[in-house]
Amino acid sequence: SSGYIFCAWGLWLTCNPAFPTCFVRGQSPLHILGQYGRENAATIFELFLECMPEYPLDKPDAEGNTVLLLAYMKGNANLCRAVVRSGARLGVSNNQGVNIFNYQVATKQLLFRLLDMLSKEPPWCDGSTCYECAAKFGVTTRKHHCRHCGRLLCHKCSTKEIPIIKFDLNKPVRVCNICFDVLTLGGVS
Ligand SMILES: [Zn+2]
Ligand SMILES: [Zn+2]
Repeated sequence: SSGYIFCAWGLWLTCNPAFPTCFVRGQSPLHILGQYGRENAATIFELFLECMPEYPLDKPDAEGNTVLLLAYMKGNANLCRAVVRSGARLGVSNNQGVNIFNYQVATKQLLFRLLDMLSKEPPWCDGSTCYECAAKFGVTTRKHHCRHCGRLLCHKCSTKEIPIIKFDLNKPVRVCNICFDVLTLGGVS
């Protein structure tokens, strides 16, 4: 059946108007899906991962976009949910410093929903600057992680502590401000 799925993939890819440019921009099939996928993108994504469970979900394209970021910028909620459920890193920024936390959208509802649906700790992000305020880490600015979204943050951007029962973290742990709101207010309806 995986042969069939790859034929379908190939067809879908070659029929896609983005086909000639995707290689130039360093995009994998998942990036194409994030950028051009429609309502069925989540289903295609799940089939893809079934065939290639080890596929690197957080691989950036030439502009630094992950499949999650592309899907988020396109407002494809179904695909975002499928990607997050599969264990993607949440806070990864593209080359312009844009990520799902700071991307300008009319409402943060999708971001809150994605955070609310986390059922296990996502993989931690790494880097040399704070994912929230861009402060450079060094001797005086230490690295911390939000235990809920996995983002790398400075002390100033992760001052709140709360137990995360759904992760079996029953003692207060460090979280970012957005996650604190999600965890205290619950899913934003
Ligand atoms: Zn910071
Ligand atoms: Zn967080």
